[in-house]
Amino acid sequence: MVKLIIRPIAEVVSEDAIERRMREYVEEILRGAKPIAEGLYLIEPPVPRATPSMLSLDCPVKAIIKLRIGEVTNMDGIRALARGRAVHDLYQDWFRAVNPRVHVEVESGIEALDTAGRTDILYMREVDGEERWGLIELKSVWSLSEDRERRYTRQVMAYVIMLREAGIDVREAYLVTMRDVKALPLKTLERELNGIIKELKALETLEWPMKPPNLRLCYKCEVRGVCMTYSNYKSHGRDPAPTM
Ligand code: SF4
Repeated sequence: MVKLIIRPIAEVVSEDAIERRMREYVEEILRGAKPIAEGLYLIEPPVPRATPSMLSLDCPVKAIIKLRIGEVTNMDGIRALARGRAVHDLYQDWFRAVNPRVHVEVESGIEALDTAGRTDILYMREVDGEERWGLIELKSVWSLSEDRERRYTRQVMAYVIMLREAGIDVREAYLVTMRDVKALPLKTLERELNGIIKELKALETLEWPMKPPNLRLCYKCEVRGVCMTYSNYKSHGRDPAPTM
């Protein structure tokens, strides 16, 4: 049996290294970014199909924005994105180095069930003479609240179902954050979330809701400036969020 070594991100990746790599990514993102409004940048064009990462968003209206307008954010969002990329690179390098007998694929693209996605780490190790596939989803957050865990788990289960369709039977999966490593109970989750791909595809035809699903999120939302739901809500004079 090939043992697997997994640790929380902050235990194996230094803040200095993250900071250095993050600065490079901020510059790279800004080179390709298009200013579209006061303090807002378009950093990726719209995507034609919903992807599993959309299931991890805190507000479903953000998925509509990614599908219709593209990836829009402000400087804080660009820094957060750059930090996430830096964390991914550094952790993936560490994971390969400490698991030399494990077959590792990073940022591996999957196309199945009329959707596409990219797993952070997909691996295969030998257990009792058999191949065992697993995946790791990295999140550069310090705490895993119940809500975050629910959203991230839904994203992972979409990958698991897509990979099965593509012929890879994932038997173990982990959520790894700055402080935690959480093993996911795949068998139970598969029963609970067997309609997750249908839910994902439903995002593609979702109309702008008339009311924000969670108004409290709008108060600090980076995409508020391009959100039709928020602007409609505000134009009807209903509890407008304070300007930032
Ligand atoms: S402004 Fe509100 S409704 Fe619009 S995407 Fe942000 S959180 Fe969601």
